[in-house]
Amino acid sequence: LNHFYTDSGGQTVENPRHLRKSEKALKRLQRRLAKTQKGSKNRQKARHRLARKHLKVSRQRKDFAVKTALCVVRSNDLVGHEDLRVRNLVKNHNLAKSISDAAWSTFRQWVEYFGKVFGVATVAVAPQYTSQNCSNCGEKVKKSLSTRTHRCPHCGFVADRDHNAAINILELGLSTVGHTGTHASGDIDLCLGGETPQGKSSRGKRKPHQ
Ligand SMILES: [Zn+2]
Repeated sequence: LNHFYTDSGGQTVENPRHLRKSEKALKRLQRRLAKTQKGSKNRQKARHRLARKHLKVSRQRKDFAVKTALCVVRSNDLVGHEDLRVRNLVKNHNLAKSISDAAWSTFRQWVEYFGKVFGVATVAVAPQYTSQNCSNCGEKVKKSLSTRTHRCPHCGFVADRDHNAAINILELGLSTVGHTGTHASGDIDLCLGGETPQGKSSRGKRKPHQ
């Protein structure tokens, strides 16, 4: 799979080794459960092991997403990112892909949350054409999902597919902020689609305000 994170400066963050290991172990436990007999003691044990591992891996994943999000928000003045809600409309049945989508969605929620906390603008950008257009000359350069490198026949620009897309996303993000004309006011208003990560928002709502 691709990098967990790629930005417009070409910086990337990999999924950490311990997470890749845990996901492998998870798949192994899943296979083991499938091999046990229905109603048996072994099945019960296998189910219990799988559940515990699931919990552990989801905690590790969240921890990684939160740390990475904090790092991104603290080292940038504006964060533009792909709008995953649009991307999610395309259903996929690929397990690895849905795991990475879930991780990305958690990451995005925390970027938006930290954006509010630290007064850093976060802008969700529609992902249409961001990977197809050349970020250097603007020409459309068609490529399939498996093409990992952007090579522009018009201007000769070559970059990693996600790096090229990230430059386009930043460009779109900047133009969005420009259009709304609110960038001078700084912080909270700019957080578009501003939900906070789950636990926090519901806790806030339950508080009785008088
Ligand atoms: Zn080009």
